[in-house]
Amino acid sequence: MLDVIVVGARVAGSATALQLARAGHRVLVLDRATFPSDTLSTHLIHQPGVAALARWGLLDELKATGCPPLERVGYEVAGIRVEGCGRGVDGQRAAYAPRRHILDPLLAGAAAEAGAEIRQGCRVTGLLRDTTGRVVGVEGTHAGRAFREHARLVIGADGMRSTVAGLAGAPATVEHPRLTCAYYSYWQDVPADLELYEAPDRWVAAVATHQATLVLTYFPQSRFEEVRADAEHHHLQQVRATAPDLYERLQGATQVERLRGTGDQQNYFRQAAGPGWALVGDAGHHKDSITARGISDAFLQAELLARHVGGRLDGDPAILDEALAQYGKDRDAALMPGYEATLAVGRLAEQHPQRLALLRAIRQDSELTSIYFDMVAGTATIGDLYTPKLLALL
Ligand SMILES: Cc1cc2nc3c(=O)[nH]c(=O)nc-3n(C[C@H](O)[C@H](O)[C@H](O)COP(=O)(O)OP(=O)(O)OC[C@H]3O[C@@H](n4cnc5c(N)ncnc54)[C@H](O)[C@@H]3O)c2cc1C
Repeated sequence: MLDVIVVGARVAGSATALQLARAGHRVLVLDRATFPSDTLSTHLIHQPGVAALARWGLLDELKATGCPPLERVGYEVAGIRVEGCGRGVDGQRAAYAPRRHILDPLLAGAAAEAGAEIRQGCRVTGLLRDTTGRVVGVEGTHAGRAFREHARLVIGADGMRSTVAGLAGAPATVEHPRLTCAYYSYWQDVPADLELYEAPDRWVAAVATHQATLVLTYFPQSRFEEVRADAEHHHLQQVRATAPDLYERLQGATQVERLRGTGDQQNYFRQAAGPGWALVGDAGHHKDSITARGISDAFLQAELLARHVGGRLDGDPAILDEALAQYGKDRDAALMPGYEATLAVGRLAEQHPQRLALLRAIRQDSELTSIYFDMVAGTATIGDLYTPKLLALL
């Protein structure tokens, strides 16, 4: 019998499989997709995620793919520009924005190298249960054939519309309405590092990724139908209205690939685990992508779950279940502050004069600017910013 079946082989699934395989467990990863392939997502990995890749020995491999380091951030709101770089995590000060058709196979490859079996083109359609109702495996189809596999733990890393969460009956424990819709395009010959532009009802970003610059626009959810009807037009007009300098740079540049976007960015926590099953990544917790935390948070959950269940997979199921329950508590505690911060940004509200005064003060000082960008990366809080230095500048 396998120790673990992971459903989903992208950032959450492969990262979890990697941790558990390296801990010596027998791991099978199933994904209905085939790799390399893209998924609907942009690419920014904040410093906590970069530090995780470094811990796992994968950052050099990522750098070797030609993914440019993002060493400076420019953030503009109400005519105020803050520019600098966060203090970072474990010595990692740069962020990276790899294309998902490069990042996801890199992680899956590392999991395979650690001993996990990765089966692509393999769709999970059911959970197997024992007579007590405990989840003991999965069933599905692979290459036109039905299959069944048994394991002590089934991990759903199968995204926002998670089949595993649905079949396990994982209820939402926290839920908020959708806030934004997002569209993104790729451009050649547009030099950029990481640029963020904020205005009431609007948000624009430009990010250097593999061989192109990604341009990303956010609109209120209430405008989704209108924007969707002519997305190319609204995408570019949003850039023009919010980031005129970036718009100018796009004029002589070449757009490559088609525009992509979504109005379905749900905000929730689902119950993280139950007897014989657990959820990681978007399957268990999802939020608006405006703060770009999903990939880093998937890595955090992968390490957290592996730490809790590692070494407890072949003993008393009651001990495993205790570990799973603790994973759920720790996940919620770790991710709730970032969730709340994301909801605040996703409301696309007009900036409060006090916040603008704060930004005017911090842009005068590189240390305060660094703390501010740590907040953007999710590694500092507003409390860290309120130093005597800031109070003197306010
Ligand atoms: C527009 C947009 C922009 C974003 N930008 C960023 C960003 O810049 N930075 C960031 O950190 N996050 C970003 N995110 C969020 C990020 O994309 C997600 O948090 C991340 O992809 C979650 O990874 P995951 O592995 O949990 O799920 P997914 O990436 O959704 O992978 C799930 C996998 O499960 C497989 N699967 C599903 N059902 C089954 C089944 N029944 N059987 C077998 N396999 C199955 C799928 O094929 C898929 O490969 C963005 C999201 C969106 C929508």
